[in-house]
Amino acid sequence: MTTRLTVTGADWTTPHIRRIHFRSDDLSAFAGSDATDRYVKLVFLQPGVTYPEPLDVRALRGILPPEHLPDVRTYTALFPDVAAGTLAIDFVVHGDEGVAGPWAAHAQPGDTLLANGPGGAYRPDPDADWHLLVGDESALPAIIAAAAALDADAVARVIVLVEEPGDEAAMALPDGGRVQWVYRAGGPADGLLLDAVRSLEWPVGTPHVFVHGEAQEVMHRIRPYLFGERGLRRDRVSISGYWRYGRTEESFREWKHELAEAERAAAS
Ligand SMILES: Cc1cc2nc3c(=O)[nH]c(=O)nc-3n(C[C@H](O)[C@H](O)[C@H](O)COP(=O)(O)OP(=O)(O)OC[C@H]3O[C@@H](n4cnc5c(N)ncnc54)[C@H](O)[C@@H]3O)c2cc1C
Repeated sequence: MTTRLTVTGADWTTPHIRRIHFRSDDLSAFAGSDATDRYVKLVFLQPGVTYPEPLDVRALRGILPPEHLPDVRTYTALFPDVAAGTLAIDFVVHGDEGVAGPWAAHAQPGDTLLANGPGGAYRPDPDADWHLLVGDESALPAIIAAAAALDADAVARVIVLVEEPGDEAAMALPDGGRVQWVYRAGGPADGLLLDAVRSLEWPVGTPHVFVHGEAQEVMHRIRPYLFGERGLRRDRVSISGYWRYGRTEESFREWKHELAEAERAAAS
Protein backbone atom coordinates (compact mmCIF):
# COMPACT_ATOMS: atom_id res chain seq x y z
CA MET A 1 0.00 0.00 0.00
CA THR A 2 1.20 3.51 -0.76
CA THR A 3 -0.30 6.26 1.34
CA ARG A 4 0.33 9.98 1.57
CA LEU A 5 1.30 11.18 5.04
CA THR A 6 0.70 14.81 5.98
CA VAL A 7 2.51 16.33 8.96
CA THR A 8 0.11 17.61 11.61
CA GLY A 9 2.57 18.41 14.38
CA ALA A 10 5.96 17.65 15.92
CA ASP A 11 7.65 17.58 19.29
CA TRP A 12 11.05 16.62 20.66
CA THR A 13 10.73 13.48 22.83
CA THR A 14 14.45 13.70 23.69
CA PRO A 15 17.14 16.22 22.62
CA HIS A 16 17.97 13.97 19.62
CA ILE A 17 14.57 12.50 18.67
CA ARG A 18 11.82 14.45 16.92
CA ARG A 19 8.38 12.83 16.94
CA ILE A 20 6.41 13.78 13.83
CA HIS A 21 2.65 13.28 13.91
CA PHE A 22 0.99 12.41 10.59
CA ARG A 23 -2.48 12.14 9.15
CA SER A 24 -3.30 9.81 6.26
CA ASP A 25 -6.47 9.24 4.23
CA ASP A 26 -5.89 5.49 4.23
CA LEU A 27 -4.12 3.44 6.87
CA SER A 28 -6.19 0.32 6.14
CA ALA A 29 -3.00 -1.68 5.45
CA PHE A 30 -2.25 -1.45 9.19
CA ALA A 31 -5.52 -3.13 10.14
CA GLY A 32 -4.08 -6.65 9.87
CA SER A 33 -0.75 -5.95 11.58
CA ASP A 34 -0.12 -6.43 15.29
CA ALA A 35 3.70 -6.49 15.12
CA THR A 36 5.22 -3.99 17.52
CA ASP A 37 8.12 -3.32 15.12
CA ARG A 38 5.79 -2.21 12.30
CA TYR A 39 7.74 -0.13 9.84
CA VAL A 40 7.11 1.88 6.70
CA LYS A 41 9.28 2.80 3.74
CA LEU A 42 9.20 6.58 3.46
CA VAL A 43 9.61 7.94 -0.06
CA PHE A 44 11.42 11.26 -0.46
CA LEU A 45 10.79 12.63 -3.94
CA GLN A 46 13.51 14.65 -5.66
CA PRO A 47 12.48 18.28 -6.04
CA GLY A 48 11.63 19.37 -9.58
CA VAL A 49 11.09 15.82 -10.90
CA THR A 50 7.67 14.76 -12.22
CA TYR A 51 6.85 11.16 -11.32
CA PRO A 52 4.33 8.81 -12.96
CA GLU A 53 1.12 8.18 -11.00
CA PRO A 54 0.51 5.88 -9.23
CA LEU A 55 4.09 5.88 -7.99
CA ASP A 56 5.87 2.52 -7.99
CA VAL A 57 9.40 3.23 -6.74
CA ARG A 58 10.87 -0.08 -7.95
CA ALA A 59 9.47 0.39 -11.44
CA LEU A 60 11.32 3.71 -11.74
CA ARG A 61 14.75 2.02 -11.79
CA GLY A 62 16.00 1.87 -15.34
CA ILE A 63 13.43 4.46 -16.42
CA LEU A 64 14.71 7.53 -14.60
CA PRO A 65 18.34 8.63 -14.23
CA PRO A 66 19.74 7.61 -10.81
CA GLU A 67 19.76 11.21 -9.53
CA HIS A 68 16.01 11.46 -10.16
CA LEU A 69 15.11 8.32 -8.21
CA PRO A 70 13.37 9.01 -4.89
CA ASP A 71 15.28 8.31 -1.67
CA VAL A 72 13.68 5.57 0.41
CA ARG A 73 14.15 5.38 4.18
CA THR A 74 12.78 2.86 6.69
CA TYR A 75 11.04 4.00 9.88
CA THR A 76 9.01 2.43 12.69
CA ALA A 77 5.34 3.45 12.65
CA LEU A 78 4.12 4.32 16.13
CA PHE A 79 0.52 4.28 17.36
CA PRO A 80 -1.16 3.69 13.97
CA ASP A 81 -4.88 4.42 14.41
CA VAL A 82 -6.68 3.14 11.33
CA ALA A 83 -10.03 4.76 12.17
CA ALA A 84 -8.54 8.15 12.95
CA GLY A 85 -5.99 7.90 10.12
CA THR A 86 -3.10 8.94 12.35
CA LEU A 87 0.37 7.65 13.23
CA ALA A 88 3.65 9.02 14.55
CA ILE A 89 7.29 8.44 13.69
CA ASP A 90 10.24 9.12 16.00
CA PHE A 91 13.15 10.33 13.85
CA VAL A 92 16.69 10.31 15.22
CA VAL A 93 18.10 13.70 14.27
CA HIS A 94 21.71 12.72 13.70
CA GLY A 95 23.17 15.83 12.07
CA ASP A 96 23.15 17.41 8.61
CA GLU A 97 23.98 14.24 6.68
CA GLY A 98 21.33 12.16 5.01
CA VAL A 99 17.76 12.65 3.90
CA ALA A 100 15.27 11.63 6.57
CA GLY A 101 17.05 12.93 9.67
CA PRO A 102 17.50 16.47 8.27
CA TRP A 103 13.94 16.41 6.85
CA ALA A 104 12.54 15.55 10.28
CA ALA A 105 14.54 18.31 11.97
CA HIS A 106 12.73 20.91 9.87
CA ALA A 107 9.34 19.26 9.13
CA GLN A 108 6.35 21.60 9.43
CA PRO A 109 2.58 20.98 9.51
CA GLY A 110 1.34 20.51 5.95
CA ASP A 111 4.57 18.85 4.69
CA THR A 112 3.88 15.54 2.95
CA LEU A 113 5.63 12.22 2.35
CA LEU A 114 4.64 8.98 0.64
CA ALA A 115 4.87 5.78 2.66
CA ASN A 116 4.76 2.09 1.73
CA GLY A 117 4.04 -0.68 4.21
CA PRO A 118 3.75 -1.79 6.83
CA GLY A 119 6.33 -4.55 7.34
CA GLY A 120 7.33 -6.03 10.68
CA ALA A 121 7.37 -9.45 12.30
CA TYR A 122 8.04 -9.18 16.02
CA ARG A 123 5.67 -8.93 18.95
CA PRO A 124 6.65 -9.98 22.49
CA ASP A 125 5.55 -13.59 23.03
CA PRO A 126 3.25 -13.58 26.09
CA ASP A 127 4.39 -17.14 26.92
CA ALA A 128 8.10 -16.24 27.09
CA ASP A 129 9.85 -16.61 30.49
CA TRP A 130 11.16 -13.07 30.09
CA HIS A 131 11.94 -10.44 27.47
CA LEU A 132 15.23 -8.84 26.45
CA LEU A 133 14.91 -5.61 24.42
CA VAL A 134 18.16 -4.04 23.22
CA GLY A 135 18.97 -1.24 20.80
CA ASP A 136 20.11 2.29 20.11
CA GLU A 137 17.96 5.36 19.41
CA SER A 138 16.89 4.02 15.99
CA ALA A 139 15.29 1.00 17.69
CA LEU A 140 13.90 2.98 20.60
CA PRO A 141 10.49 3.48 18.91
CA ALA A 142 10.12 -0.27 18.36
CA ILE A 143 11.32 -0.93 21.92
CA ILE A 144 8.79 1.58 23.29
CA ALA A 145 6.03 -0.18 21.30
CA ALA A 146 7.19 -3.61 22.51
CA ALA A 147 7.34 -2.45 26.14
CA ALA A 148 3.77 -1.13 25.87
CA ALA A 149 2.61 -4.53 24.58
CA LEU A 150 4.06 -6.55 27.48
CA ASP A 151 1.64 -8.26 29.87
CA ALA A 152 1.33 -6.73 33.35
CA ASP A 153 3.16 -9.72 34.88
CA ALA A 154 5.92 -9.87 32.25
CA VAL A 155 9.59 -9.79 33.21
CA ALA A 156 11.68 -7.57 30.93
CA ARG A 157 15.21 -6.22 30.71
CA VAL A 158 15.72 -3.26 28.41
CA ILE A 159 19.10 -1.85 27.39
CA VAL A 160 19.25 1.27 25.22
CA LEU A 161 22.31 3.09 23.90
CA VAL A 162 21.88 6.88 23.64
CA GLU A 163 24.20 9.83 23.28
CA GLU A 164 24.29 11.27 26.78
CA PRO A 165 22.33 11.70 30.03
CA GLY A 166 19.13 13.60 29.17
CA ASP A 167 18.47 11.40 26.10
CA GLU A 168 16.42 8.85 28.03
CA ALA A 169 12.90 8.40 26.61
CA ALA A 170 9.72 7.60 28.50
CA MET A 171 8.48 4.03 28.19
CA ALA A 172 5.70 2.07 29.87
CA LEU A 173 7.12 -1.03 31.54
CA PRO A 174 5.41 -3.60 33.76
CA ASP A 175 6.51 -3.89 37.42
CA GLY A 176 8.89 -6.68 36.39
CA GLY A 177 10.61 -4.44 33.84
CA ARG A 178 13.98 -2.73 34.24
CA VAL A 179 15.62 -0.34 31.82
CA GLN A 180 19.34 0.44 31.64
CA TRP A 181 20.59 3.44 29.66
CA VAL A 182 24.08 3.25 28.17
CA TYR A 183 25.82 6.45 27.03
CA ARG A 184 28.25 7.06 24.16
CA ALA A 185 29.19 10.32 25.84
CA GLY A 186 31.11 11.44 22.77
CA GLY A 187 33.33 8.36 22.80
CA PRO A 188 33.40 5.39 20.42
CA ALA A 189 30.20 3.36 20.65
CA ASP A 190 31.96 0.11 19.67
CA GLY A 191 31.11 -2.70 22.02
CA LEU A 192 29.12 -0.60 24.51
CA LEU A 193 25.84 -2.42 23.90
CA LEU A 194 27.48 -5.84 23.91
CA ASP A 195 29.25 -5.02 27.19
CA ALA A 196 25.90 -4.06 28.73
CA VAL A 197 24.20 -7.24 27.45
CA ARG A 198 27.09 -9.34 28.76
CA SER A 199 27.00 -7.65 32.18
CA LEU A 200 23.27 -8.17 32.57
CA GLU A 201 22.19 -10.63 35.22
CA TRP A 202 19.81 -12.83 33.23
CA PRO A 203 16.48 -13.70 34.89
CA VAL A 204 15.56 -17.39 35.10
CA GLY A 205 14.38 -19.12 31.92
CA THR A 206 14.64 -18.44 28.22
CA PRO A 207 14.10 -14.92 26.91
CA HIS A 208 12.29 -13.72 23.82
CA VAL A 209 14.80 -11.27 22.41
CA PHE A 210 14.56 -8.11 20.27
CA VAL A 211 17.92 -6.53 19.29
CA HIS A 212 18.20 -3.84 16.61
CA GLY A 213 20.38 -0.82 15.94
CA GLU A 214 23.77 -0.04 14.40
CA ALA A 215 24.58 -3.05 12.25
CA GLN A 216 28.18 -3.76 13.24
CA GLU A 217 27.28 -3.77 16.93
CA VAL A 218 24.15 -5.84 16.49
CA MET A 219 25.18 -8.36 13.83
CA HIS A 220 28.90 -8.82 14.48
CA ARG A 221 29.02 -8.41 18.25
CA ILE A 222 25.69 -9.15 19.92
CA ARG A 223 24.41 -11.80 17.54
CA PRO A 224 27.36 -14.21 18.00
CA TYR A 225 27.05 -13.73 21.77
CA LEU A 226 23.33 -14.63 21.80
CA PHE A 227 23.55 -17.61 19.45
CA GLY A 228 27.04 -18.80 20.40
CA GLU A 229 27.71 -18.14 24.06
CA ARG A 230 24.06 -18.05 25.15
CA GLY A 231 22.91 -20.79 22.77
CA LEU A 232 19.58 -19.15 22.01
CA ARG A 233 17.39 -20.65 19.31
CA ARG A 234 16.99 -18.54 16.16
CA ASP A 235 13.21 -18.37 16.53
CA ARG A 236 13.58 -16.78 19.97
CA VAL A 237 15.54 -13.80 18.63
CA SER A 238 14.53 -10.88 16.40
CA ILE A 239 17.82 -9.28 15.39
CA SER A 240 18.95 -7.02 12.55
CA GLY A 241 20.92 -3.90 11.75
CA TYR A 242 18.81 -0.75 11.34
CA TRP A 243 21.63 1.43 10.01
CA ARG A 244 25.41 1.39 9.57
CA TYR A 245 28.03 3.99 10.50
CA GLY A 246 29.29 5.84 7.42
CA ARG A 247 26.69 4.36 5.07
CA THR A 248 23.47 5.75 3.69
CA GLU A 249 20.48 3.45 3.71
CA GLU A 250 21.19 2.57 0.05
CA SER A 251 24.80 1.54 0.62
CA PHE A 252 23.81 -0.17 3.89
CA ARG A 253 21.49 -2.42 1.86
CA GLU A 254 24.58 -3.51 -0.12
CA TRP A 255 26.42 -4.21 3.19
CA LYS A 256 23.53 -6.44 4.32
CA HIS A 257 23.49 -8.22 0.98
CA GLU A 258 27.26 -8.88 1.20
CA LEU A 259 26.92 -10.16 4.77
CA ALA A 260 24.12 -12.55 3.76
CA GLU A 261 26.20 -13.81 0.79
CA ALA A 262 29.26 -14.33 2.99
CA GLU A 263 27.20 -16.26 5.54
CA ARG A 264 25.63 -18.41 2.84
CA ALA A 265 29.09 -19.20 1.46
CA ALA A 266 30.44 -20.03 4.93
CA ALA A 267 27.50 -22.35 5.60
CA SER A 268 27.84 -24.31 2.31
C1 LIG B 1 12.98 -1.73 10.21
C2 LIG B 1 13.69 -0.40 10.52
C3 LIG B 1 13.08 0.50 11.38
C4 LIG B 1 13.72 1.72 11.67
N1 LIG B 1 13.08 2.60 12.50
C5 LIG B 1 13.66 3.79 12.75
C6 LIG B 1 12.99 4.75 13.57
O1 LIG B 1 11.84 4.56 14.01
N2 LIG B 1 13.64 5.93 13.84
C7 LIG B 1 14.90 6.19 13.31
O2 LIG B 1 15.42 7.28 13.57
N3 LIG B 1 15.55 5.30 12.54
C8 LIG B 1 14.95 4.11 12.23
N4 LIG B 1 15.59 3.23 11.43
C9 LIG B 1 16.93 3.56 10.94
C10 LIG B 1 16.88 4.50 9.71
O3 LIG B 1 16.24 3.86 8.63
C11 LIG B 1 18.35 4.85 9.33
O4 LIG B 1 18.98 5.49 10.40
C12 LIG B 1 18.46 5.68 8.05
O5 LIG B 1 19.76 5.51 7.54
C13 LIG B 1 18.23 7.17 8.29
O6 LIG B 1 18.22 7.83 7.04
P1 LIG B 1 18.89 9.27 6.82
O7 LIG B 1 18.40 9.72 5.49
O8 LIG B 1 18.63 10.13 8.00
O9 LIG B 1 20.44 8.98 6.74
P2 LIG B 1 21.23 8.25 5.54
O10 LIG B 1 21.20 9.06 4.30
O11 LIG B 1 20.74 6.83 5.42
O12 LIG B 1 22.72 8.22 6.11
C14 LIG B 1 23.52 9.42 6.14
C15 LIG B 1 24.59 9.29 7.24
O13 LIG B 1 23.95 9.31 8.51
C16 LIG B 1 24.36 8.19 9.30
N5 LIG B 1 23.22 7.74 10.12
C17 LIG B 1 22.08 7.16 9.70
N6 LIG B 1 21.28 6.87 10.74
C18 LIG B 1 21.93 7.29 11.85
C19 LIG B 1 21.61 7.26 13.24
N7 LIG B 1 20.46 6.71 13.72
N8 LIG B 1 22.53 7.78 14.10
C20 LIG B 1 23.70 8.31 13.65
N9 LIG B 1 24.05 8.36 12.34
C21 LIG B 1 23.17 7.85 11.46
C22 LIG B 1 24.79 7.13 8.27
O14 LIG B 1 25.74 6.26 8.81
C23 LIG B 1 25.37 7.99 7.16
O15 LIG B 1 26.72 8.28 7.42
C24 LIG B 1 14.98 2.02 11.11
C25 LIG B 1 15.58 1.09 10.23
C26 LIG B 1 14.95 -0.10 9.94
C27 LIG B 1 15.61 -1.08 8.99
